Amino acid sequence: MRKNIVAGNWKMNKTIDEGVQLVQEIKKLLSEKSNLSTQVIINPPFTHLSTLKKEISNSAIKIGAQNCSYESSGAYTGEVSVSMLKSIEIDYVIIGHSERRAYFNETDELLLKKLNLVLESGLLPIFCCGEVLSQRDSGIHFEVVRQQIENTVFKLSADKFNKVIIAYEPVWAIGTGRTATSQQAQEMHKYIRNIITEKFGASLASEISILYGGSCNAQNAKELFANPDVDGGLIGGASLKATDFVQIVSSF
Ligand code: PEP
Repeated sequence: MRKNIVAGNWKMNKTIDEGVQLVQEIKKLLSEKSNLSTQVIINPPFTHLSTLKKEISNSAIKIGAQNCSYESSGAYTGEVSVSMLKSIEIDYVIIGHSERRAYFNETDELLLKKLNLVLESGLLPIFCCGEVLSQRDSGIHFEVVRQQIENTVFKLSADKFNKVIIAYEPVWAIGTGRTATSQQAQEMHKYIRNIITEKFGASLASEISILYGGSCNAQNAKELFANPDVDGGLIGGASLKATDFVQIVSSF
């Protein structure tokens, strides 16, 4: 079901003590807000998931992983399977973050395997897509995003696709301090919703949450989230500071 979502991607930051402290601060600040209907998701490193799952147990915050293996079990040293995440009652998994695509050579084919495993386990994927700067500069950004989506989430059945959260993250805006303008975000989000409509119909398209990610912060979130097709954000750097993160959550 389409809802407003703000998900924090901590990446490889915070020790366990720092993570617990950050979650406690976020919980406290959120408890001071009334009428918040936004779904808040925190995606810490694997090592923190169990502890932070307990930490958020008496709140509306959900916990997600930043990645999972494309295999279900076996001799894959260093990997973490979807069933392991399921066994500690994790709700969400980020799939296809541009850093995974760029530094760990994750291809569309591999991401589709992950998506199927995640959805078959009843977890919910936050699927990332987005173009690099040279693709934006040469005007092929719509085509790039369309290809990423067609090669992955569009290969799912409608029943499975229905559960996917899409995060449009222009790579040139991630961690750079350079945000997409409100217009650039809206036009890409509308484009994504249009191609979903072509593929699965308007009713399903209207039910999909499409998040924006890329230097979204406490100052620009309100303008970005005011767009009709922007349903929230996937937040990197600004999710590491409780006041900034909660300000973003309150930006609808
Ligand atoms: C991200 O890593 O998903 C992200 C959007 O990072 P940042 O907010 O730091 O640009």
